[in-house]
Amino acid sequence: MEKVRIECLGCGEARAVPAAAPGKQLHAGECHRCGYVGWAPSAALTEPMRRRIRERPVDRRAAIYVL
Ligand SMILES: [Zn+2]
Repeated sequence: MEKVRIECLGCGEARAVPAAAPGKQLHAGECHRCGYVGWAPSAALTEPMRRRIRERPVDRRAAIYVL
């Protein structure tokens, strides 16, 4: 099964999860490191974007980058 690499928007922890089926939402669950539930695909994140996310209040990150 194809895996997609994602990163926690709370602490930056990276993990690989099975890719979602077409039309289905990817459910990554919560981060085992910080308990946060917002993730973004690594491929979609650039360094400037990571910096902007880190500067953003945590409670507003998920609203923008929820999978
Ligand atoms: Zn985390």
